[in-house]
Amino acid sequence: MRLTRDVCLVGGGRFGFGLTSPGDSHVYLVDGGDDLLLVDAGIGGVAGDPQRILAEIERDGYDPSRISRLFLTHYHTDHMGGAAEMRDLLGCELHGSPLTARTLEAGDEKQVSLPEAKRAGYFPEDYVLRPAPCAGDLTEDATFAVGSLSLRVIETPGHAAGHVSFLVEGGERVYLLQGDVIFFGGTVFLQNTHDCSIQDYAQSVNKLAEIEFDAHLPGHLGISLEDGKRHIMAAKAVFDALGVPKNLV
Ligand SMILES: [Zn+2]
Repeated sequence: MRLTRDVCLVGGGRFGFGLTSPGDSHVYLVDGGDDLLLVDAGIGGVAGDPQRILAEIERDGYDPSRISRLFLTHYHTDHMGGAAEMRDLLGCELHGSPLTARTLEAGDEKQVSLPEAKRAGYFPEDYVLRPAPCAGDLTEDATFAVGSLSLRVIETPGHAAGHVSFLVEGGERVYLLQGDVIFFGGTVFLQNTHDCSIQDYAQSVNKLAEIEFDAHLPGHLGISLEDGKRHIMAAKAVFDALGVPKNLV
């Protein structure tokens, strides 16, 4: 689904637009002209079907084999579980924060709280996190060219350790691809997991509040192409009052 000249939404499940497998996070294609980047991979494994994401990419007019890299916002399985299969299908490089990369390379199900998520009914019992080689070079202020676009990494822990967001400039709008930090209306996604931190969350939101951008491209739910920063500021106002913004679960 084309959002702008520079970005398409090519995946997303039941907490999105129902484009692909129900457990998929939003998956974005960033088009820099002579280079294509995928952001997040969907759930994969027995719960997913990466071919449906490839079909969406083709429906938007792209040859999936042109995708050179896949950047991961964080290691939760609805975002990273399909990474190994995507690498097989596309021949692309995988990139994440150092912790995300280590976790994917080890297939570390404990780190991503998969046993707890299975007990909570989010994943089938036979779901397995498939490991894959991953570069851990998505660190604070690292910048990457995506064709004519430029992408800057912003470390945004809180929802999960090692979570990063991406500021994409040089296109028809400025885009913030921010995984599971803030959702439409300033909603947060705090979970009862070992690596979730309210204090880190508030600091990440403060950091994003300093950045100017147009489009708010989260990992689930509604997308705003204009004035996307209002969602960040709504959460910041609650954190600044020492409260906790409305939670997704
Ligand atoms: Zn998440």
